[in-house]
Formats: sequence, C-alpha cells, structure tokens
Amino acid sequence: MGVLIKTKGLVQGIGFRPFVYRIAVKHGLKGYIRNVGDGTVEIFVEGGNIEGFLKELKNAPLSQIEKMDIREEKDRGYEDFVIEKSTGERKEKGAIVPPDIAICDECLREMYDRNNRRYRYFFITCTHCGPRYTIIRKLPYDRENTTMDEFAMCEDCEREYKNPVDRRYHAQTVACGECGPEIFLIKDNAIIEKGEEAIRRAAKEIEQGHIVAIKGIGGFHLAVDAQSDKAVGRLREMYGRPSQPFAVMVRDIDSAERIAYIDDLEKKLLTSFSRPIVVLRKKGEKLSRFVSPGLHTIGVMLPYTGLHYLLFDHLEIDAIVMTSANHPGNPILKDEKEMNKIDADCFLIHNRKIHQRCDDSVVRAVNGRVSFLRRSRGYVPLPLNVHINFKRDVAALGPELDVTICLLTGNKAILSQYIGNTSKYDTLEYLKDCLQHLCRLFGVEPSVIACDLNPAFETSQLAREIAEEKGTEVIEVQHHFAHAASLIGEHGLDESICIAVDGYGYGLDGQAWGGEIIYAGRDFKRMGHIEYFPLIGGDRATYYPLRVVAGILGKKVEDWLIERKNSFPHGEKEIEVIMKQRGDILTSSCGRFLDGISALLDICHYRSYEGEPAMKLEAAAASGREALDIEPVIKGDKIMVKEIFEEIFENLKRYRREDLAFTAQKYIATSLAELAIEKADSEGVKNIGISGGCAYNDFITTEIARRVKREGLNFYQNEKVPCGDGGVSFGQGIYCGIMRMD
Ligand SMILES: [Zn+2]
Ligand SMILES: [Zn+2]
Ligand SMILES: [Zn+2]
Repeated sequence: MGVLIKTKGLVQGIGFRPFVYRIAVKHGLKGYIRNVGDGTVEIFVEGGNIEGFLKELKNAPLSQIEKMDIREEKDRGYEDFVIEKSTGERKEKGAIVPPDIAICDECLREMYDRNNRRYRYFFITCTHCGPRYTIIRKLPYDRENTTMDEFAMCEDCEREYKNPVDRRYHAQTVACGECGPEIFLIKDNAIIEKGEEAIRRAAKEIEQGHIVAIKGIGGFHLAVDAQSDKAVGRLREMYGRPSQPFAVMVRDIDSAERIAYIDDLEKKLLTSFSRPIVVLRKKGEKLSRFVSPGLHTIGVMLPYTGLHYLLFDHLEIDAIVMTSANHPGNPILKDEKEMNKIDADCFLIHNRKIHQRCDDSVVRAVNGRVSFLRRSRGYVPLPLNVHINFKRDVAALGPELDVTICLLTGNKAILSQYIGNTSKYDTLEYLKDCLQHLCRLFGVEPSVIACDLNPAFETSQLAREIAEEKGTEVIEVQHHFAHAASLIGEHGLDESICIAVDGYGYGLDGQAWGGEIIYAGRDFKRMGHIEYFPLIGGDRATYYPLRVVAGILGKKVEDWLIERKNSFPHGEKEIEVIMKQRGDILTSSCGRFLDGISALLDICHYRSYEGEPAMKLEAAAASGREALDIEPVIKGDKIMVKEIFEEIFENLKRYRREDLAFTAQKYIATSLAELAIEKADSEGVKNIGISGGCAYNDFITTEIARRVKREGLNFYQNEKVPCGDGGVSFGQGIYCGIMRMD
C-alpha cells in the first residue's frame, strides 16, 4: 500500500523538496516528489514507515501548508525515492515566490561552530533561510535568476548544492567565505576594513556615538547607539525627523524584555522567521528618551541575519537604533551607488546586490490580534487567498501615503512590500518598478487598474496613464469603501458594517471623509459618519491641530489660543485670521478629531510625522481612566463632536490630562460602536468590523470589539493586511472584484 499526497502552500525556495527527500529516505520509503504547478506539490511514497513519514511531513519547517490531501493508493513498485523535475514547472500563474527568511537555528549553530567551514561567515544561509524575494530577478527561482549569479560556487559549496540529502541542496543562496559575498567598511570613500574586522570596527563606531549605515537584506539601515541621547539626537537632526519613533534592534529576547512588556503573541511575532519590528509597551524609559519620544510604545526587533549576530558579538550595548536609511518619504536606500544620497559616518556594506528594496515589517498586537503597520520583509510576496475569483487580472495602485500595490489574479491577491509616500518622485518611480516586477514575476497581465477616487493623487494619475497606454479599464474606488472592502476580502465575508476611521480620504461629496460607517457587501454605501467640522486652512490644520480646536469651538477659545500663540508660526496675527475664517473644507475625520483633542489637552500642537498627535493622545490615555461620564451624542446618522470638545474644554483644569484623553477616546469608540450596531440592526447584518489608520489605536479597537460582541454580533479587524493605507490597494482590488467583474 502506498499514499499519494497533494499539498498546497509555500513550497518553493524553502527546501521543502529536499526536506521531504530526507524524511522519505529516513523512513525507508520509495516514490517521488514533484511540483505540478500552481503551487501544488505531489508526493507518492510506498514500502516503508508511512505513518512516521506523515507525522514529520506535517511539521515541515516554514512550509505553511495550506492544504494536504492524502489518499491511499496501490503499490507502484518504485525502487528508490526521487525528486522529479516536471516540465514547465513554476511557470503557472500564482507560483509562489518565497519571502526573505531570518537566519535559521541550524545556520546560527554552524556560524558559531569553530570546526564548521562557515564559522563566523556573515552570509551563512541554507534552504530554510536567507534572502529570497529581494534577490529574485525572475522565475524560476534558480541561482542564475538571482543576484547570487555573480558568485561562482566553490567546490565545497557546489557539492552541498548538488547533494539531495544536504540541507543546502539547491539552496540558491549557498555561499561561503571562499566564494560568497564579502563585507567591507567604508569611511571617507575608502575601504578601511574587510571581513570580521569591518564588523568589529562598525561596532566600535556605533559605540563611539557615530552613525553607521549597514547594508542588509532589503536595503540599508542607519544604526546608532540607542542609549545615547547625543547619537540619537544627531540622527534626528540629520534626517529631519524631530520625533518620529525609531525602531531598535536588541541583542536577544532577554534584552527585549528588559525594555518592554512582551506577551505570548508578541513573543511569537518577535521570534518568527519573518522577524518583524514589533511595537511593544515600554517598561519605563530604559533607552535614550529620543528613541520614541512622547509614546508609551517602542518598536523592537531581533537580529535576523548572520551579520546582525556578529555585530552584536562586538557590541557591549544591547540595543541599537536600526531605521531604514532614507530621507523622509523617499525609498529605502539599496545600492552603493546611491550612498551619496544619505549621510553616515561610515558604511558597512557587502557586495551582494539587492534586486527589490524591502523595508522591515512592523506589527502591533491590537485587541490581542496581529495588526500590520507595515507588511513587508518576511511576508511579501506571499499571496493571500481571497473568496472572489478574479477572471480578469487587476492591479490596484493604492492611495498616496504608506502605499503598497496589489495584484489580484484567480483567487489570489499579491500585496507588494511597503512603498511609501508617492507624492515624492523617487517613491513613485519605485512603485512603477515594483509594479512591473511583480507583474512579470507572477505572470499577471492587468486589464483593470484600480486607484483612489482622489484625482490629485500621483497613483490616480498613473492609473490613467497606464490605461491610455495599454487600453486597460480604470476603476476609481472611494478610499473608505476600499478600507471596508479590505476587511470583507480578508475575512471572506458576504457583507459587513465597517467602521472606517482614518485621517483623510476623498469623499463622494468632495469633502474630507475619515469617520465613516460603511455598508460593504453586494454594494457599498455610506450609512453614517462623524459630523462634519471645519478644517481651517485645510492641510495646515493637519500640521497644526490647534486649528481643529479653533474650527470646532470658535470664538470661545480665542483667548485660550492666544495663550498658545507660540504654537502658531505667525503667532497672534495668525489666530486673528483663523478666528475670521470658517473653513471651506469640511471633514468627518476621526484622525483629525483625535488630533484636535490632543491639541486641546496640550499634548501635541504640531504634527512632525503622520499620526503623531493621535498617537501621543493614545500614549497619554494609556495611563488614564474615565473622568467625565459623557454619553454618545448621535443625531440621525451623525456622531456629534462639538459637545465633547466643549465638555473637555470646560473641564481642563478639573481633571488630569490623561483622564480627559481617556474620556475622549472612550467617547469616540462608544459612539462609533453604537452607530455601527444601529446600522447593523437596521440592515440585518451580523458582522461589524473596523479598518483605517485609527484602528491601530488599541483602546479604540478593543472597546468597539467589546461592545459589538456584547450585542451578539461578529467582530472583525484586519489581521493579514494593514488596516492603514498599506491595505487600501488590496481593498481597491477586492472592491473591483465585487462591483465590477463578471
Ligand atoms: Zn539556514
Ligand atoms: Zn563556497
Ligand atoms: Zn485610509
């Protein structure tokens, strides 16, 4: 008796076939393994310990098997076990390209084994680990199609590469100190150290308070001593980031636990093969106060390459700032030839080319579940399964900020790495390059291009250009409809009421939406929203949130604003002008609401990075408790905001700032939940979800979830794609699938 096994999932480029070969031989089995296209692998085994084999197979490293069909079959009389090469394999659409994977335990052990020939070799990898997506130029995933093609294997490496029972069998990144990539330290445009000495010297530079640019998997990092106010402060000054939080890389999980609280989910994320930056709650201020100023959280990651481990071997300190090397809004630096675009005291570089840039991923536990702030290295380009069958290929280009792009084909969605702020020229070029690359890699030929409804976005402009050039159809998707679609697309829901809360999205009525109750299902409808309030000076109000306070409370706060005239670039004169304006632009933005409260509580008067006032409000509220008992004020389909601003203004002196921050967050969460529940009721919908950038607020999402579940309804949040604008491209694609495709 034999068995035929069919598996689907991540099976290419992660050593699945050699792994199966090894366990088949171990259990005395005969038969074969082969790829049969579309990501399916077929295995036939007979004549040995099948049970033992199946048990090990189910625990295959990194394989993330989606499906495994096992069927008993007659013996076929195989004489040994073989890895069969099928013709035309890997050519089909939806073939799986693996993401970049953190160094595995076995490689790590070898790297520290004096008798191993890769002892302390910084680029040690195997079939279970190493760069993938960032080095692949095209499929099939063979060495000549990667940036490793410049390194001819030495005899020893080649022997491993060709040996089916070796862990490096067909490991496209196989290399050693003899034949593989080398590492250098560059200072003042000259190579001053090589190999281990380069790493040692880089560590010393960091400890001396210098800025070291380090070339990694998907681009360069800027590294500085995370304990040093001077070093972190200098980095902020040089890169025009006065207070945007920096991520830190720590030596190990114990070091992480010394600076932050870590629960089971967070620990699992930190140590996963994707090794994202995990946003954790700080344990006091153990590092420089400039690392994440004014926030109760800190982004932490563990080392994920041999180089990172070797660097820490030479460091006395346990934490370094590791932030993407770029000026705000521009793409992460990837090539030596771009080195003149950034400033650093020295550069630790290697000579393996990066084909695709890829920033670190960033996740946070929100309401006890995974929430992606950025889905990038370690996850991309793993496809997401969707419940819609796309008969025509769609390319969705996202909105303007935090952009990703998304390809949808068959029942798969391929979300790109983080691209960023597309109003910057270089970033838009990066997007175009990434679009072309992903289309080629996955054999996708879009006949529909989805973009935001806002005609002013560069991505919308690009959609029209592509349409003109290639004759494709353009579908414009309202921003919050896209957020709502991302939620039902991710969870495979027929319909849901979606609370879409963020900073800004161009509304169907031309106003600035951002606090929306959306019906998403057979069609998309706006069911309710936060009552419009004026944004005096439009965009200026997003940078200077005291303008939101002025817009909502008017004359009443004139004197109070004058007391804060230093927070206005033109002082009292500016306040005078503001008082006369009523604001042409109206908004229902939840983000601006939170910004306004933050300014009213003197927590943040100037936004130096996206989300800053609201994030600092959340930080303050984290140590607060309810102060005023304010019931939601909902009139018709609108959540009122003036009342809560007035209450807080009148009680500014009576309560702690933290308690008022808590109260305001509770007010908006309660109101949104109440209105959504009311709409779910009237529409007969059983599902309520939340999406949009404000859904990163742990308190707001948790509070809404609690209220929704208390009503016996199902609650959903984004767990596979970002709820922020990094998930909008996915939502745009899903929207096309629901609304416009037959
Ligand atoms: Zn490995
Ligand atoms: Zn070698
Ligand atoms: Zn948004």
